[in-house]
Amino acid sequence: MMKKMYKTKKLWTTSLSTILLAKPKTQTLILPSLPSISGLKHHYLSTSPQPQFSFSASNLRNHLFNSFHSQSSHEKCWNCGAVAETPPFLFCHSCRCVQPLDHSLDYFQIFGLEKKYEIEDDANLEGMYKQWQKKLHPDLVHSKSQKERAYAAEQSERVIDAYHTLKDPLSRAIYIMKLEGVHVDQEETISEPELLAEIMEIRESVEEAPDSNSLNQIRSQIEEKLKHWSNSFANAFRSQKFEESIDAIRRMTYYDRVIEEIVKRL
Ligand SMILES: [Zn+2]
Repeated sequence: MMKKMYKTKKLWTTSLSTILLAKPKTQTLILPSLPSISGLKHHYLSTSPQPQFSFSASNLRNHLFNSFHSQSSHEKCWNCGAVAETPPFLFCHSCRCVQPLDHSLDYFQIFGLEKKYEIEDDANLEGMYKQWQKKLHPDLVHSKSQKERAYAAEQSERVIDAYHTLKDPLSRAIYIMKLEGVHVDQEETISEPELLAEIMEIRESVEEAPDSNSLNQIRSQIEEKLKHWSNSFANAFRSQKFEESIDAIRRMTYYDRVIEEIVKRL
């Protein structure tokens, strides 16, 4: 009996320490705000025609489902009520009215992309971006109402942000981590001796480069390194290894800055 108790106790201690030692999850789930349970209860109680009202789980589920969906996107045109076929709903396909910004769409959804780090070459981000910018250009919407012009300006700003963020491997990495609820501090100092030595070496060679030819040579070497770490990020991110992902981002940040420095000198 004693033995058994001891065993149980030990098991409990182990699992407790596992819980205590486990790293806190940094992931956060962002959902549109939902009405509180007590608020819903009040709502059902005050509107129910039957005095012997019972508050069922399916009622609650339906209510939550409906309110979630009605808040999640602009499905209907604010002007004519036509239903959108595909996001992004910049313009109404029926009355050509500019639609308000849909904050529930992330940058990947804006471009109709799957939420993953790698972007195929044929995704044609640039083409879509240019096409939208043309449509949203102030010269083209100047005859529209003030409300629509304001919507167009908002949409345009967001499309610009989305394009620049997704186009660049580094900012795309930081952005996709943010969507996972992981904040990356790019300013964190590098403490790895090997990497520090490499940084010093590269800096020296940039400073001592005699001409633009040698600067360009260094640049293509750094671009290779950037590509390598971008691939490392992709792998780490895919397997949800966020510490490795952050490490890759930090290195990419450094190489990105070296390239900026080289461009300044060219
Ligand atoms: Zn419409």
